[in-house]
Amino acid sequence: MADNVAPETDAPNTASDALAGLIRPNVERMQPYSSARDEFEGMAPVMLDANENSLGSVGPDDFSRYPDPHQRAIKADLAKLKGLTPENIFLGNGSDEAIDLLVRLTCVPGQDSIVVCPPTYGMYEVAANLNDVRVERLPLTPDFQLPADAAARLVQSTAKLLFLCSPNNPTGNLLAQEAIESILASFNGLVIVDEAYADFANAPSWTTRLAEFPRLVVLQTFSKAWGLAGLRLGVAYAAPVLIAYLNKIKPPYNISAATQQHALAALAAAPQLSELRAKLLRGRAFLAEHLPALPIVEHVFPSDANFLLVRFNVDATRVYDQLRARGIVVRNRTSQPGCAGCLRLTVGTDAENTRLLQALAEIGAKQPVEKARQ
Ligand SMILES: *Cc1c(COP(=O)(O)O)cnc(C)c1O
Repeated sequence: MADNVAPETDAPNTASDALAGLIRPNVERMQPYSSARDEFEGMAPVMLDANENSLGSVGPDDFSRYPDPHQRAIKADLAKLKGLTPENIFLGNGSDEAIDLLVRLTCVPGQDSIVVCPPTYGMYEVAANLNDVRVERLPLTPDFQLPADAAARLVQSTAKLLFLCSPNNPTGNLLAQEAIESILASFNGLVIVDEAYADFANAPSWTTRLAEFPRLVVLQTFSKAWGLAGLRLGVAYAAPVLIAYLNKIKPPYNISAATQQHALAALAAAPQLSELRAKLLRGRAFLAEHLPALPIVEHVFPSDANFLLVRFNVDATRVYDQLRARGIVVRNRTSQPGCAGCLRLTVGTDAENTRLLQALAEIGAKQPVEKARQ
């Protein structure tokens, strides 16, 4: 029940005040869906309240019962791992669900806007477009940092949300902490820091600053460092008042029983995360060391993520096609602002990394002489 009571009633005034004018009036007014599992928690000997199939499931595993709509077990473990409370945690069907719900929670279609900082993750803009929400752009500098006057420009903004991605996709770098701090002080909307790649970065997570900033939302995911992209589990961390609103508007059973079971097993095995991360970081260092030696590589951008953005001194789309012809698929980012000539290379296994370097060396050897660097 706790997640579905009106968020304003039990929240400290300061936290509610920080959200003044940011929640859509129809969301304030609406009654959330009250599921069978809201109205009766736990198990009784006879459960005939949810139109489930008491006889069992078709297929090898029993999934006949609806899952916990509040995902209490996962939130308890995650709260311990992150030094937060379960009330700071929203779980989504991937971070993409959290992104969509944040737009729908705050932006009136046809009226409100969000701010994005290109080049960046494309889903912010897709979620805005789907909801008929205007997109304002605050482009990153050529070295992919926030412009020096970002905070000053955002003081005037009436946008409801600002999406910052740190480490940023597709560029790989962390955004400077001081720049984000000034924006948190100046912008009146929610500041969403997408930390999908934070586990690969050598910097504290913004989750450690939630108590200071009532309009800060931190997104993380099980898709990258945890290696569970197929599971679809994303997390939004924020002040309890804001999390309560996300819970109010989410589909009641948005995290499947299969996902909840797997996530619990993964959390119990959390020590494996650092091993996996250490291996990936060694792979990233290996690529970052050897890529610059290739004649077709112009620049390898510094990365705090599990990928490298690489600028080529030859037609990058041709390099992309020639990699594909050799059975290697990377991401072509040449059309992204500030990313002319760039491909995004995900760090793979040792064998995959070596194969990628060999393929790029071969492709370089076949380039017309006048186009190559030497
Ligand atoms: C991969 C990625 C995500 C993860 O999305 P999921 O829906 O959780 O898989 C979120 N943000 C960014 C910037 C990403 O690159």
